[in-house]
Amino acid sequence: MKVDIEREIQQSAEDSARRIRELLAARKVFAVNLISSPGSGKTTLIEAAIDAMRGKKRIAVIEGDIETDIDAARIRKHGVQAHQINTRSSCHIQPFLLLAALDHIDLDKTDLLFVENVGNLVCPAEVPLGEDVRIVALSVTEGDEKPLKYPLVFKTSDLLVITKTDLLPHVKFDPDRVKIAARAVNPGIEIFEISAVTGYGLPAFLRRIETLCDRKNG
Ligand code: MG
Ligand code: ZN
Repeated sequence: MKVDIEREIQQSAEDSARRIRELLAARKVFAVNLISSPGSGKTTLIEAAIDAMRGKKRIAVIEGDIETDIDAARIRKHGVQAHQINTRSSCHIQPFLLLAALDHIDLDKTDLLFVENVGNLVCPAEVPLGEDVRIVALSVTEGDEKPLKYPLVFKTSDLLVITKTDLLPHVKFDPDRVKIAARAVNPGIEIFEISAVTGYGLPAFLRRIETLCDRKNG
């Protein structure tokens, strides 16, 4: 019985993810699923993307947090559409919640949709949301052993962005160690290093997202 219920939940998650993918394809929206631990700079990264792509890409954002709409309010200050999902008991965005959240976004006025997942390196990796690209962010304050401890999220992500590199002089973090470990589980992963404070590496990273977005929508 338990197995049946688990299979059913799995099935409905896959159904919702497929519907999201079809909906976004029909409306020509490129979707990014952004995953990281709490506090590694996901919202800051999205804010930087909004400001850098103003006039080039129409961005919308769906924020996932267990509680509060602090992040959606932050994003709205940049003048783009934002909707907050509160997952309450769930430590990741479930596909049915994202599907419902898309009702609150005018997809015809959106080229690029950022979905900021709940801060968590574990189960968001197990749950495809129908995204075009999955990005994992890792800040230099979190330690360079993370790809060894949480391989699945690095294995299933297309891009890895190492954030807060301006803090490198103050922490024991070896970017090369991260790169080697991430590539061991995912040889194709593209790796960027950025600092939202100094702007280091941001243009190259954002250009890559734009290129991927253009590739989908021409
Ligand atoms: Mg956030
Ligand atoms: Zn979870």
